[in-house]
Amino acid sequence: MNIFIVDDDQIDRAHIKRMMRRIDSANCITEAEDVDSALSLLVKQNFDVVLLDYSMPRKNGLEFLKEIQDYKIKKHSAIIMMCTSEQEELALHCLQSGAHDFIIKSDVTGYRLRRAILAAQTRFDMETELKASYAKVKQLAEQDNLTKLANRYFFDESLKLTVANNERQQHKTALLLFDLDHFKYVNDTHGHDVGDILLQKVVHRIHTCLRGTETFSRLGGDEFAIILNHVDKIADAEKVAFRILNVLVKPFCINHAKINMAASIGISIYPDNAKSASDLFKKADIAMYKAKKLGRNQFAFFEDEMQKQFLKRYRIENELKQALDKQQFELFYQPVFNCENRNITGFEALLRWHSDQGIISPEIFIPIAEESRLIKPIGRWVIKQACRQISIWQRQNPTLTMAINLSPIQLLDSTLLLHIKHCMKKYQVDPQSIEFEITETALLDDSWQTQAIINSLSELGCKIALDDFGTGFSSLSHLHHFPIDTVKIDKSLMPSEGVDFSNEKIIHGLVIMLQYLNLNIVAEGVEFKSHLSMCQSLNIHKLQGYLLSKPMPCEEIDKMALFATYPNIVNYAVQPE
Ligand code: C2E
Ligand code: CA
Ligand code: CA
Repeated sequence: MNIFIVDDDQIDRAHIKRMMRRIDSANCITEAEDVDSALSLLVKQNFDVVLLDYSMPRKNGLEFLKEIQDYKIKKHSAIIMMCTSEQEELALHCLQSGAHDFIIKSDVTGYRLRRAILAAQTRFDMETELKASYAKVKQLAEQDNLTKLANRYFFDESLKLTVANNERQQHKTALLLFDLDHFKYVNDTHGHDVGDILLQKVVHRIHTCLRGTETFSRLGGDEFAIILNHVDKIADAEKVAFRILNVLVKPFCINHAKINMAASIGISIYPDNAKSASDLFKKADIAMYKAKKLGRNQFAFFEDEMQKQFLKRYRIENELKQALDKQQFELFYQPVFNCENRNITGFEALLRWHSDQGIISPEIFIPIAEESRLIKPIGRWVIKQACRQISIWQRQNPTLTMAINLSPIQLLDSTLLLHIKHCMKKYQVDPQSIEFEITETALLDDSWQTQAIINSLSELGCKIALDDFGTGFSSLSHLHHFPIDTVKIDKSLMPSEGVDFSNEKIIHGLVIMLQYLNLNIVAEGVEFKSHLSMCQSLNIHKLQGYLLSKPMPCEEIDKMALFATYPNIVNYAVQPE
């Protein structure tokens, strides 16, 4: 055994040495006269037991224990404190400070020493085990298992600490919050295993943009945060964000698949944008939202104007949550006319919201309802209401159809189909008379759910219309891959009156192509007589627009004769809402 005796009294040391040799003559004994020389030896050498005198000049045994802790001398051994009989109470204090046993100097016998060593070593081993399991639990509690980055808990604590420290030191702190663009798509198409590898690879690349002094955390899913300390200029944070976007440019190669990945980064600065850690986080979140809105794969700094917008959006979202219960929604119906015989062939159901703040345009609240997923219950209400209404109007004219807008989010709802079937059955509506309008953005996310729901709707007999054609991506492959019956040419393509010949040519080309593909064509945004004559000359099947009729509440439609032919449909133009 390696024994270390720390005692200023030479006679006491000799006595203990004798005892130790008597226990086992092979014991190897090292001695020190004071705390400082003992500590310097302890750093270099490992001992099984330290026999430590409490009373020593300059520094005593207690100070020895404290310095071991302060300097984190890890390899320290089982420690037995030696004291006089009057110091018994003090010895207890030493036990609390890290000694593993104590022995009264005047009682030292071979037997007592052996017993104390055994007790001290047992206690020391237990303590070591406890420390190791504590370290493991701490690691589990603070680290993300997949990426080995700090986790959300650790991040929250660090952000609070950093802000508190920087407050004292008058430094700036930058918080970069980001998530990966369309990461869900990777998980959905390549599987979660590939998603996990991708996350690890992304983290590896981002590490190369950092110095190692930053707190880089995974907050969950594909959301990450980096705390930059001691930022002098805002440009420093900008540089890091720029580098992150740059290292992601090269595609990732996983299981022979090439995957492109980018990030949207929001940046907030302490104390410029916020006075507390939680506020700093909120502001980075707002900035990240902005970066996404601007088209992703970019970074955005927090600005006050953003907060106003964010709060407005937040208020609308909260009000939207109650709008269904408060019965604040109403459907307006815009008649669709047959271009040739000028009959009303059906309607498009368009949602109106009478919010507490007045009427809010669907252009504003639908995107918010989509992001918050509230579009699911709202959309169900629209479907039910529209089915009920068309069944009433069909009593006058059974050929009338109803067009219902479906948001991409609704197409990911596995219970949508059931709800639609239920509504059609309840109001005895023939599936053929319902047309679902889908925008191309919905088809871009060509997940199997979207494809499956559209196919099922079509198999059920419902019609599928591609809405807003000519605005977004207008990929011809969509016309091929999905069971599209109708294409609605977007109103933005309608020529401005009298001047816009180029748009007329585009519409002309589009119509020829769509007719060749045997698709029904609806022209939206027919606002002027010139539009009407253009559509007539191009043989577009159906027309919709303010010139013919604005969207109206059902009471207004009830006043119209729904079975009649309108010889001069222009006369039915309704004044603006
Ligand atoms: P959309 O599906 O393209 O609907 C046509 C929009 O054009 C309607 O706007 C309609 O009022 C407007 N419009 C009709 N004729 C003319 C015209 O001659 N000139 C002009 N400039 N505009 C015309 P609205 O009702 O404000 O709806 C806007 C958008 O909100 C809709 O565009 C649709 O994307 C969405 N939306 C409305 N209701 C619903 C709904 O129930 N569900 C879903 N998911 N989206 C809806
Ligand atoms: Ca539509
Ligand atoms: Ca449209």
